[in-house]
Amino acid sequence: MTRSILRSVRLPALTTPWTDTVTADRPLLQALVRGFGGGPVHLLDPAQFARNARGFAAVFDEAGLDGTVYFGKKANKANAFADAVADLVTTDRRAGRSGTFGIDVASVGEFRQALAAGVRGRDLLITGPTKPAELLGLAVRHDAVVTIDSPSELRALAALSDGLGVRVLFRVLPQPAISRFGMNDDELRYAERLALDHATDVAMLGYSFHLSGYSLSERRDQACQLVDRVRAARAQGLAARTISLGGGYPISYVPQDDWQRFTNETAHAFHAGKQFDSYYPYHSAITGAQALRAIVTEPAPGRKSIAQSCQDHGISLFTEPGRALLDRAGITVFPVLGVKEREPGMIVVNGTSLSLSEQWFDTEFLPDPQLVSATTPVADPAPFFASVGAATCLESDMLTWRVIEFPHRPAPGDFLVYHNTAGYQMDSNESAFHDTPIPPKVVITLVDGRPVWELDRPTSN
Ligand SMILES: *Cc1c(COP(=O)(O)O)cnc(C)c1O
Repeated sequence: MTRSILRSVRLPALTTPWTDTVTADRPLLQALVRGFGGGPVHLLDPAQFARNARGFAAVFDEAGLDGTVYFGKKANKANAFADAVADLVTTDRRAGRSGTFGIDVASVGEFRQALAAGVRGRDLLITGPTKPAELLGLAVRHDAVVTIDSPSELRALAALSDGLGVRVLFRVLPQPAISRFGMNDDELRYAERLALDHATDVAMLGYSFHLSGYSLSERRDQACQLVDRVRAARAQGLAARTISLGGGYPISYVPQDDWQRFTNETAHAFHAGKQFDSYYPYHSAITGAQALRAIVTEPAPGRKSIAQSCQDHGISLFTEPGRALLDRAGITVFPVLGVKEREPGMIVVNGTSLSLSEQWFDTEFLPDPQLVSATTPVADPAPFFASVGAATCLESDMLTWRVIEFPHRPAPGDFLVYHNTAGYQMDSNESAFHDTPIPPKVVITLVDGRPVWELDRPTSN
């Protein structure tokens, strides 16, 4: 392959003033990487997370709805984001508001971590399939809301509650989707009967769904169906008044034009001729809180909008965004160890693709890593085409299989910065593979425009 036929669609990541400031500060990146052992570091921007969360809450306000935004905690393990939720709750309480923010947890560890951050049990929502008795017991003791996934789970929770009226939502299996989560019509009927029989043990709040995929109209259709279910449940004598829309709001990682160019181009170059069947939609026209707004305010054909239906029938909404609250709230810095000058080249970074989870789902994290050089590059440098490999002995441990066009040849001591990694990418899959330490998480706050760092608060579970 000669340099002249190498080409690569550029997919530069969308940035923020915070990412611009942090990535422009080479001494800061050098100090952090050196100070924390020379491997990758994850840098977090909890202020961006809080802005994203407020954006979701504002949609409920503007639509005249009572709504709660539960952060889907599994998307990032950092304490900084749980702390940010605790701050949001406290600020709102001072303003005389409650029930605007909370955390969606799915394990005993996440529950404890949320409590330790200062989020009260009553502001927690518990999701996940068949929850262990310990988790259900915590829900009873702390007055958390439990999303029920099966009638037998409801029976177990009612026994643990024994008169404490723990609040529950019934998770609905969406039709015709095939999922291992949620209850079908028969199971829902049975659970509704159980809730009536155990009215002092469980308080049935309403219904929830969580869809995979990123379709707004499917979410709108589901929400419409759940409005009907709430009304039918009331007719049976249940005090249903809430619908949870789940999570799954799309976010954009790259600009629309670049994404269009990427999807139009069929001949992408990948290391070792690697091919992928599908990718996350790295650009969507409607993202995050705007997607929530579109779901609740734009009516499905022949129906009222969700917002209107909820107002008419006194229904409040929950939502459980994970990725969308973390949009542009974190980056990951990998130090360059070496460069193989082939055509195309191979850059080896100190770190593994375990810190870039998308690589473990038979697909690729596509946004171009940003090259931050340790030294000022030579004038008029030639572009350098390369993939990015990990510092491990696994042939398949690649951070980027795609051949990326870098502005010049990277050198040891430079950094590759992967943007927008806070949502699922940075820590879902990390392990001490090869006896390498788990990369640290560092919170960076801009004080008068200058970055000030601190280590994410350690977890004491
Ligand atoms: C994972 C999950 C979420 C969050 O999904 P995102 O795609 O990160 O918004 C919300 N609710 C449930 C039940 C989940 O399992």
